Amino acid sequence: MLAFDLELERVINEIIDKKANKIFIQLPEGLKQYVLKISEILEEKTEATIYFSSDPCYGGCDLAIKEAEELGCDLIIHFGHSPFITNSTLPVLYIRTKIILDTDFRRKIEKDLPINKKVGIASIIQYLEIIKDIKEMLESRGCSVIIPPKIGKVEFAGQILGCEYSSLRSILNKVDCYLIIGSRFHSLGASLKLKKPVFLLDPYSEKIEDMESLKKSVLKQRYALISKAKNLDKFGILIGMKAGQFNNESALKIKKILESRGKKSVLIAINNISSNSLDNFTDINVFVNTACPRVGIDDVTRFNKPILTEKECMVALGKLNWIDLLEKGFF
Ligand code: SF4
Repeated sequence: MLAFDLELERVINEIIDKKANKIFIQLPEGLKQYVLKISEILEEKTEATIYFSSDPCYGGCDLAIKEAEELGCDLIIHFGHSPFITNSTLPVLYIRTKIILDTDFRRKIEKDLPINKKVGIASIIQYLEIIKDIKEMLESRGCSVIIPPKIGKVEFAGQILGCEYSSLRSILNKVDCYLIIGSRFHSLGASLKLKKPVFLLDPYSEKIEDMESLKKSVLKQRYALISKAKNLDKFGILIGMKAGQFNNESALKIKKILESRGKKSVLIAINNISSNSLDNFTDINVFVNTACPRVGIDDVTRFNKPILTEKECMVALGKLNWIDLLEKGFF
């Protein structure tokens, strides 16, 4: 059983301190069920008008600055993620939404932890507090443990994002395997970026899972999609319009390369990448995604046409080979 720490006292203090009148709140899908409770508490303790976003919000990259500005808000409160965008025009309060674990959790997973290995260990932001405990448990089983340093877009040492594994790569030569505390999404991302065994410790299911077979099946899918894309000639280049996913420069670079290879291409601005939003582009037969690199990799069966990452597109065009792609990672 999991409980969340929404830090509502801190939120209230921040609203009062900043004298904020209109608040725009973003919640991950799993927390939208609490909107009534959150608004009741905040409206009781502050004078602010509260607006909630209904849009999906999968990362700190997705900061709804435009929406908040249009509503005249003077503070964004973003639950469930760590800071990602540093140049927001509006003040932002990020609430990590730490997950409080069952006291029995450690006992349940202990027997499945690795023995006598050199282990790199990292976590998503909500579980960061338990890294220290898991490290001690691993050490008592003869393991040596490295918590990777803070590198890239993360806020803390030992933290990972679905698109940020640089810190884990930095310790590649010092470990035998990795243990990722989080979900399949994050551990799959790690296994696609790291040429070492990756295990998932999922505090929600209270299970430890070897990611190797899922990784193999995703690699097969990626290989098949890239091979198919080699023979396709009408490319749609997706430019994510979410504040932290916007990458027009890459999109223009890809367009130039495609055209130099005799391929047709169009630039497509997009907010939420879904099969509904892409299916109407009937004259496009393959998409290249410069927004969140995980869309299209994790949800491959939800799309009717291949969606490639920038690096995969370069493999399809013969500018990069499959071995390099495995070495560098797909995104
Ligand atoms: S770009 Fe994608 S993977 Fe990275 S933080 Fe945003 S939603 Fe997560």
